[in-house]
Amino acid sequence: MAIFYDTHAHLSYTDFADELPKVIERAQAAGITKLISIATDLESSQRTLLIAERFPNVFAVVGWHPSDAPEAPVDIRPALRNLAQHPKVVALGETGLDYYRLPSKKAGLTQADDEAYKKKQADLFRQHLEVAAELGLNCVIHQRDCLEDTLAVFEPFAKQVRGVFHCFANDAATMRRILGLGSLVSFTGILTFKNGQNIRDTLAATPLDQFMLETDSPFLAPVPYRGKRCEPAYVKEISEVAAQVKGCSLEDLSAATCSTAKQFFKRLS
Ligand SMILES: [Zn+2]
Ligand SMILES: [Zn+2]
Repeated sequence: MAIFYDTHAHLSYTDFADELPKVIERAQAAGITKLISIATDLESSQRTLLIAERFPNVFAVVGWHPSDAPEAPVDIRPALRNLAQHPKVVALGETGLDYYRLPSKKAGLTQADDEAYKKKQADLFRQHLEVAAELGLNCVIHQRDCLEDTLAVFEPFAKQVRGVFHCFANDAATMRRILGLGSLVSFTGILTFKNGQNIRDTLAATPLDQFMLETDSPFLAPVPYRGKRCEPAYVKEISEVAAQVKGCSLEDLSAATCSTAKQFFKRLS
């Protein structure tokens, strides 16, 4: 059986609380041998580390998600440095920018609130990149509806820190810009969606050794589970579509994506 990794799942979410051992067993049974669990704030970073301590094949990415920026400390660097000392931390994140739900879309809030929100996100993102550069770690980057602003913050760090632009949903030209910076992209179950042709086209243009696979569990369950809670075992369904799109065997896809993940997530063993 071809083995794969789930390079982006949120195992600390309450969606999994009751049955985490079973979720991890089902992943193993499907050939998904390593899971990278991504935190979204300091509390979930702590919980993610506990999960990584409990399960040998689970690794942790610690950080603060841009959508939760308003609740973040002004300076998250000391906390990140501290968390990153844990031997199972393989990268920082997820960090980045997200302009999908701006404050002004809610009643009573204005453009000034949007600007403050964007600035806080950019400050946090920069702090993650600074600490990553300092510690020789890479970053898991989240970007939604703000590609240019995200690249503007990232580019000054691109020589020291590699990013994986996760849940990649942009076109081939954007993918090439990111690879040109020495960074990577990763693809979710959107690859399997009927309306995912544009993403399959981007994958088709992405070199076999420059991308990773992920579920973003509990979100984005692939076909035939679409609409249900997603879990890491479903990398299997994603890998089958990815191999078709790349016109390669599952074994070749396994070798390429696992080796890319081992190079990117430095302490992944
Ligand atoms: Zn994300
Ligand atoms: Zn995520």
